[in-house]
Amino acid sequence: MEKRDAMKRDIGQVVKRVVIAGGGTAGWVTAAVLAEQLGQLIEITLVESEEIGTVGVGEATFPTVRNFHILCNLDERAFMSASQGSFKLGISFENWARKGDRYIHSFGTIGRSTWMGDFHHFWLQARAEGYEGGLSDLCLEYKAAEQGKFAISDKVNINYAYHFDAGLYARYLRQVSEPKGVKRIEGKIVDVAQNGETGFIEALTLDNGQRIEGDLFIDCTGFRGLLIEQKLKAGWEDWGKWLRNDSALAVQTPSTDEIPPFTRAIAHEAGWQWKIPLQHRVGNGLVYASDYISEEDARKTLIANLDREPLFEPRLIRFRAGRRLKAWDKNVIAMGLASGFIEPLESTSIHLFQIAATRLVQLFPFSGCTPSIMARNNALAQQELEKVRDFIIMHYKLTERDDTPYWRDCGAMEIPDSIAQRIALFRENGLVYQEGDEMFRVDSWLQVMLGQRLEPQGRHHMGRMLPQDRLRAALDSLKGSVAAAVEKMPTHKQFLAQYCPGAA
Ligand SMILES: Cc1cc2nc3c(=O)[nH]c(=O)nc-3n(C[C@H](O)[C@H](O)[C@H](O)COP(=O)(O)OP(=O)(O)OC[C@H]3O[C@@H](n4cnc5c(N)ncnc54)[C@H](O)[C@@H]3O)c2cc1C
Repeated sequence: MEKRDAMKRDIGQVVKRVVIAGGGTAGWVTAAVLAEQLGQLIEITLVESEEIGTVGVGEATFPTVRNFHILCNLDERAFMSASQGSFKLGISFENWARKGDRYIHSFGTIGRSTWMGDFHHFWLQARAEGYEGGLSDLCLEYKAAEQGKFAISDKVNINYAYHFDAGLYARYLRQVSEPKGVKRIEGKIVDVAQNGETGFIEALTLDNGQRIEGDLFIDCTGFRGLLIEQKLKAGWEDWGKWLRNDSALAVQTPSTDEIPPFTRAIAHEAGWQWKIPLQHRVGNGLVYASDYISEEDARKTLIANLDREPLFEPRLIRFRAGRRLKAWDKNVIAMGLASGFIEPLESTSIHLFQIAATRLVQLFPFSGCTPSIMARNNALAQQELEKVRDFIIMHYKLTERDDTPYWRDCGAMEIPDSIAQRIALFRENGLVYQEGDEMFRVDSWLQVMLGQRLEPQGRHHMGRMLPQDRLRAALDSLKGSVAAAVEKMPTHKQFLAQYCPGAA
């Protein structure tokens, strides 16, 4: 249908003009999904400032990104090529529970669960009876990651996410969104005009004097939260007592010979280091707590642990873990870093604002920004964020490291009841669960809990309903089919070269 025809039938539509403040990943992701899904019904303007720039990190994603791309009608090969992307099957955690430990939190599903209980109870039963095979042997994504293999095919069901160059990704989203009607304006916002009676935002003024009016404003201005906090004072809940990292040093290095299909998260004395392999380079960074290590020592740690010479001086980024109390306030919705941040571990931020942008499409306030729609949005956003927060806290709480004050304090900290109960449930009964639309599935909780050396003392005894030899044979057969499927895969690098080579 023509946009003109759809716009003419606007009976009762109060919100028509959407203004997105900020053109980082959050801004362009929001623009892309609004343009694809609601472009015929609304006008979308995005304001960004090249002079201010973006945070410039955020290059590892979660598998839900693929569904989001379907909503935006993006072509996988085209976007991967344009953003020099690589595939991600999980995260390799190194030195977390103890120095020298390594486990992969893969995106795979392990075995087949039954209505009575999750698959791992079969494995726990077999293990209790002397079976020595590992749970990871039963997971395709885990084994493929370990061996540097990757393939997408009709024959094998594989769950994956992406690594990409954040700047190139935003540029690609811009390229596909502008032809769908998104109007981009370059300029620095210097004033935010508020209605004297309602407090609603009416317009943004740029440094060149241009005034941009709107009905709904999406604040994607990053940590500064120009509209949601600086103007509306929506409030902040700080999570620093559980998540003590507050700084990162980020740097890039040339690409290495192999391109591992996973992110690396390597624990150090007072934080951890990421390595994100792309086709044209590797993204690196050290996330640390400034109360425990100086910037100078953090720089030394990062440089000493790079695989190649850095391409520039590491750049310092300060952040706070916490959430905006009202992600939607009046006619402003905060998206991305403006709405809150947990920390980079487990790459959750892009997922969270893609979910938030999808929710915006579903709850779009055609009839106006009413208290009920705001309350619904904010309740969902809070639940989502708190569950992810708990998952991240768990990595720190379940450490056995006591070699530095940082790790001793992590292991000894009081944690929210919500996560303390989940830990107890697994420790005592071997039970894990995924609640509602929670980001992390049972397999994620399980792999991280076991990887962090949380040993279940109990289990569901459903495995005893199978004779011991049949139980073992079933596990061995699954292990064999995983190994055979991985054997047939090309290396990740070979697959990238034929499927989506980085654009020159
Ligand atoms: C160290 C670190 C590592 C991370 N790693 C990951 C990861 O691996 N995976 C993941 O999912 N997430 C990660 N994140 C989070 C991720 O980087 C962000 O969620 C993502 O980049 C989105 O940022 P943003 O668009 O909200 O903000 P920004 O990138 O900061 O964009 C803000 C935009 O607002 C504009 N702007 C600001 N003020 C004005 C103004 N006055 N006038 C005009 N324009 C203005 C800027 O120009 C820019 O375009 C990481 C974050 C950090 C700090």
